[in-house]
Amino acid sequence: AFLLDKKYLHYPRATPQANRDYCLYLRRTGPGTFRLVAYLGYGEDSAEYSSQEIILEPERWVHVAFSYDGAGVGRFFINGESVGRTAQPGRGPVSPGQYDLVIGDRYGSLYSGFPGWIDQVRILGSIPDWAAGRLEIELAPLARTAFLRMERDAAVELVIRNDTAESLTEGEISWNYADQQGDQKLAPLAAHSEARVMVLIDTRLKADRYPLTVIARAKSGHKTCEARRELNVVIVPRPLPNTMPVVMWGTGDLDRLQEIGFTHQLINLADFDRIWKEGKPTSAVGEEQLSDRATMLNEYLARQVGAIATLSPGSWVVREAERQKRFQRIGRNGEPYKDPNPCGLFPEVTWFCENVGASVSQTFKKFPAFQAALIHTEVRDSTNLCFHEHDRAAYRTKTWQEIPDLAASKWGVRYEKVSGFPENRLISDDDPILTFYRWFWKEGDGWNGLHSAVHRGLKSARPDIWTFFDPAVRAPSIWGSGGQVDVLSQWTYSYPDPIKIGQATDELFAMADGRPGQQVMKMTQIIWYRSQTAPNLPEEESQRAAWEKEIPDAKFITIAPDHLREAFWSKISRPIRGIMYHGWGSLVPAEHAGYRYTNPETKEVLRDLIWNVVRPLGPTLLQVPDAPSDVALLESFTSQMFAGRGTYGWGRGWEADMHLVLQWARLQPRILYEETILRDGLAP
Ligand SMILES: [Zn+2]
Repeated sequence: AFLLDKKYLHYPRATPQANRDYCLYLRRTGPGTFRLVAYLGYGEDSAEYSSQEIILEPERWVHVAFSYDGAGVGRFFINGESVGRTAQPGRGPVSPGQYDLVIGDRYGSLYSGFPGWIDQVRILGSIPDWAAGRLEIELAPLARTAFLRMERDAAVELVIRNDTAESLTEGEISWNYADQQGDQKLAPLAAHSEARVMVLIDTRLKADRYPLTVIARAKSGHKTCEARRELNVVIVPRPLPNTMPVVMWGTGDLDRLQEIGFTHQLINLADFDRIWKEGKPTSAVGEEQLSDRATMLNEYLARQVGAIATLSPGSWVVREAERQKRFQRIGRNGEPYKDPNPCGLFPEVTWFCENVGASVSQTFKKFPAFQAALIHTEVRDSTNLCFHEHDRAAYRTKTWQEIPDLAASKWGVRYEKVSGFPENRLISDDDPILTFYRWFWKEGDGWNGLHSAVHRGLKSARPDIWTFFDPAVRAPSIWGSGGQVDVLSQWTYSYPDPIKIGQATDELFAMADGRPGQQVMKMTQIIWYRSQTAPNLPEEESQRAAWEKEIPDAKFITIAPDHLREAFWSKISRPIRGIMYHGWGSLVPAEHAGYRYTNPETKEVLRDLIWNVVRPLGPTLLQVPDAPSDVALLESFTSQMFAGRGTYGWGRGWEADMHLVLQWARLQPRILYEETILRDGLAP
């Protein structure tokens, strides 16, 4: 929403008319939250100045001010209180332009109006005292304010800034934390310079929220400047060992999240564009975003909720047309496939993936709330055979063979199409077509390598972070899906029969069996496809359920509580290391897109299961090994590649039916891959 505009273009463009004068607008950052943004033109280019996040309430007048000192420092004020500053070193005065000033909308456009009242606008030629710089105390961009009890070297990092035009001397800073005092002398501060101060925090205090008051004083000639800041420091208990993660695969508000009992949720910690341009590990987000992320991670620790960074750099690469042209997979004829999916064998893409992991872990390594990462979700549905010269060369180097002519689809080659295919349908282990598909699904499509690259990057600064990939068994039955990630997971819809969740769970165990130490978690979808569960709206109004009356066009509805419960028991009875749920919008009343909240009982059932089963029994369940199984079910990669078999993690096909039959018979099967048998034989 535009407050003032004399600039016309509030985004980069390399024409002179686009880079003059100024505009001031509100950028929405969430429900009721905004940033003030000033975009100033310097003739050749423009630069953005933005405030901290602010809350604006309807029906309440506020006084908004922006000051610019003509030398690269922009300051924002709400009701006279500072709400942030941006410094753009080396910037000078704004270039004058030719457009008229527009109040309350964008110049030359009608769709960015301010939906409120503007009472008065004043534009001044000089900065009044109250809007000028002063002595300031700020949290450093990546300051910690939440700590684990008994954490070593705990400190709150502060920036003491002389934002005046004079130099300051005889500076001193003092603080009060719980019942403890401290102080420190400051070196002289030149105009517009800053100093960093570490306030040591005693983490032996009992877990609680403590006020920290900081006062800075300094002299400018005979005048004394003073700044005061009230902060909160939180000490939280040390985490208990063997806590079973209950992951919200999505993002909800922390209050309701904790009330239901989730221990983790997804957050965004990476600006891929920035890391791509840098070409090496760098700050994972722009400088102006660091303090917001730090505030968030501090709050997560204070609430004892773990943050999972969701990172899909490989998918991001082909999201933009130019890069897609360069990195998209190509068919045998050299033409790019329609579905965007990058060729995983471009070294640039691998480096980028590793840089993303390294950037995120280096930037946020000191935040204990940052605990895990989801790497590249749902990327293999659109993978395909690729025929760049480097793909062919990689296969040649590995096997001394060429990609077989018959290989045209990632699903394999029907045996009927292979001339001379043995009548008994037995083929040798080194069959050239089989060899190719083994290579393609294990390493040739590149995805497993890309997951490993992000994983390696993350581990470079934070070896304790756990990483996961899903849906890991939406792939043929051959080891390697997910690469080196610590945990494989898979989401399952609970219909038609919730115990079918056990099939994907057992397939995950078979997949993880190829990598010693790799663990399994399991996700249940909170959403149901309406089309597959309740497709027909009853004609008779009185026959409709409450939600059918309220939201007759809902496309995704809430899973039935009993289904959620049965699926829970089915998965928790296996030796999994954590459970996950997706579909916040169908679990609680929330801002919704496609997911609708149609059953209020479901979250009650989930809360009950978490608090009465997972919390008390989780630590035991995490330590109880699997019971040996008397029944095995072979999922044959060879049959999948030559005869179209396989479940690919879905509930259809002979294998899926067989698994369900066994469960109804109360026989817990172990799923075997051909590789399991080749490695271990069939003896128990
Ligand atoms: Zn390729």
